[in-house]
Amino acid sequence: MNDVTKTYKILEIKQETPTIKTFTLDTALEGTPGQFVMVWVPGVDEIPISISNFDPLQITVKEVGEATKALHKKRIGDYIGIRGPYGNGFGLVGERVLVVGGGVGIAPLRTLMKNKNKQFTVVLGAQTKSEIFFEEDFKRNADVFVCTDDGSYGKKAFATQLAEELIQNNRYDMVVACGPEIMLKYLFGITEKHKINAQFSMERWMKCGVGLCGHCSLDPTGWRVCKEGPVFSSEQLRKVTEFFRYKRDQSGTEVEL
Ligand SMILES: Cc1cc2nc3c(=O)[nH]c(=O)nc-3n(C[C@H](O)[C@H](O)[C@H](O)COP(=O)(O)OP(=O)(O)OC[C@H]3O[C@@H](n4cnc5c(N)ncnc54)[C@H](O)[C@@H]3O)c2cc1C
Repeated sequence: MNDVTKTYKILEIKQETPTIKTFTLDTALEGTPGQFVMVWVPGVDEIPISISNFDPLQITVKEVGEATKALHKKRIGDYIGIRGPYGNGFGLVGERVLVVGGGVGIAPLRTLMKNKNKQFTVVLGAQTKSEIFFEEDFKRNADVFVCTDDGSYGKKAFATQLAEELIQNNRYDMVVACGPEIMLKYLFGITEKHKINAQFSMERWMKCGVGLCGHCSLDPTGWRVCKEGPVFSSEQLRKVTEFFRYKRDQSGTEVEL
């Protein structure tokens, strides 16, 4: 782990979808799938972004606001700052793993596919065809099912519906997921109903990324998403009353989900 921000050159930029780009950096990291780095966009902000590949280091970023917009304007040869990796990452148990990714939440899940000892089934969900990415990468080590909200590609369904169908018809040892909290909320209900262990990667506003500022602490446990998370097990999710209900904005004020 590197707690000092170091700047690295952008070697490659790939437009994955109209809103998502993957940046390949002139470095490599060692770590666990599901971990994140703090990305410093000089003169703008520092933001948490999951690792979508360790060697070379890749981050896959959706343009949503100031920092991600500035990142999307970067060109090959520009430099950005990186510290990390941070957080716990996924801990896979059993053999048969159902992986569910929604939107840009698909990005960190790709790093799981390097594990050749598991049997992966992957559900990729997005609003529309053009927002599906990494499908071919997942297909190298998994059975992949795609769904879109508008039915423009794959099955017309939410990722949660497709996941429940798969769970009803197959045996999985665990479910891992990353995506919008509304997707995780319904998926959590499904995994609880079918009594399958789950691990979800959760997002909260964070400033330091190393457990000092407390901004990403969760009610009522005090667990910090940057330190004890971002991946939480079913057992932990049951204890965090704010999950699926509210989060805190930049000022710390509760915002309903
Ligand atoms: C552990 C973790 C991993 C993440 N991985 C990815 C990833 O792989 N790819 C990706 O595109 N996005 C990822 N995000 C979300 C990303 O951090 C935010 O989209 C980004 O910080 C938005 O910054 P902005 O200045 O562009 O937008 P802003 O205008 O600042 O905010 C837009 C929205 O983004 C969210 N946000 C802003 N800053 C933060 C922050 N510091 N922490 C958490 N949420 C924030 C808020 O909900 C806000 O409403 C991750 C977040 C976390 C916590």
